[in-house]
Amino acid sequence: MSKGVWFVAEQREGVLRKISYELASTARKLADALGGEEVCAVLLGGMGVESLASQLGKYGTDKVFVAENALLEPYTTDAHATAAAKVVKEHDPAILLLGASVQGKDLSGRLVGKLATGMATDCTEVKIADGRLLAVRPMYAGKCYGEVAIASNPQMASLRPNVFPAIENAKACQVVKIDAGLDPGKVRTKVLEVQKDAAGKVDLTEANIIVSGGRGMKGPENYVVIEELAGVLGATVGASRAAVDAGWRPQSDQVGQTGKVVSPNLYIACGISGAIQHLAGMSSSKYIVAINKDPEAPIFQKADYGIVDDLFKVVPELTKEVKKLLA
Ligand SMILES: Cc1cc2nc3c(=O)[nH]c(=O)nc-3n(C[C@H](O)[C@H](O)[C@H](O)COP(=O)(O)OP(=O)(O)OC[C@H]3O[C@@H](n4cnc5c(N)ncnc54)[C@H](O)[C@@H]3O)c2cc1C
Repeated sequence: MSKGVWFVAEQREGVLRKISYELASTARKLADALGGEEVCAVLLGGMGVESLASQLGKYGTDKVFVAENALLEPYTTDAHATAAAKVVKEHDPAILLLGASVQGKDLSGRLVGKLATGMATDCTEVKIADGRLLAVRPMYAGKCYGEVAIASNPQMASLRPNVFPAIENAKACQVVKIDAGLDPGKVRTKVLEVQKDAAGKVDLTEANIIVSGGRGMKGPENYVVIEELAGVLGATVGASRAAVDAGWRPQSDQVGQTGKVVSPNLYIACGISGAIQHLAGMSSSKYIVAINKDPEAPIFQKADYGIVDDLFKVVPELTKEVKKLLA
């Protein structure tokens, strides 16, 4: 019988991503709701990745299945899906969680195929009902929320980053070394180059504060205004698709349905109208501040705080005030 709540931990260059702790804590909550089932993590990477396992134990993980293999670093869909599918098939968990992060989204498509099961993606809530997983996820670009139950096992779900709390709950975590089952001749993908974002830039999907600019910025040179505000707030800069399509910002900055889905504590939208496709990427932010000169802009329907004025007047003023507060 399928048993246990599993998750695939995420690490990059030997550092666990925040989503891994969110997955561990959520898996713990589900396992407790199932009457105290075991929480197990799959941790994949190059030599030395085993040293990260104890950190997962601090967030409620009972057992970490670790595969160390040079073919698992850097990440490729091919190698990670093969290794994860192998260990999951061998142990037959009831539930398998992943992050709805860039890497998690990439991996889950291949993994769900290999496991021939069902999956709820980009969930904002998960719970147990009648002994089975019940996942809640936005549908129609966030217009409504649907409840999804999965009839097969493992019941797979990916969790939207920054939505689920990471709660410390130390367990005597057991580490189990596993064979990744990789044949170098069969891993067809090879990473030739990794292009990194500017040093120190927090990824949008993990950012606590985001300052985003849209078409209202009027040109790439004006982003300096929101970069300054982002600088004093310790925020990451985002953009609407209009700004990206105009070539003002790189695609990696795009927030929305065809960009990144973000859930920061604070999202400041500057000169963004609030099209449904933009809202789909940021409406689960805890607090939304909109700065727009058009009082009818749809973004104000989602915003917790709205400022109707010229952003080129408001944003520098905000930067000045925040600087004063922090001094
Ligand atoms: C399939 C599909 C997928 C899409 N995916 C995405 C996506 O992932 N992300 C995304 O963002 N969009 C996406 N879009 C595009 C989306 O529909 C909108 O076109 C886009 O979000 C608009 O960007 P914007 O708000 O920056 O521009 P606009 O809608 O042109 O809004 C600009 C706003 O700036 C305000 N403004 C102008 N000057 C100032 C000023 N000086 N001070 C203050 N306010 C000012 C205006 O009042 C206006 O509200 C998608 C569209 C489609 C069809």
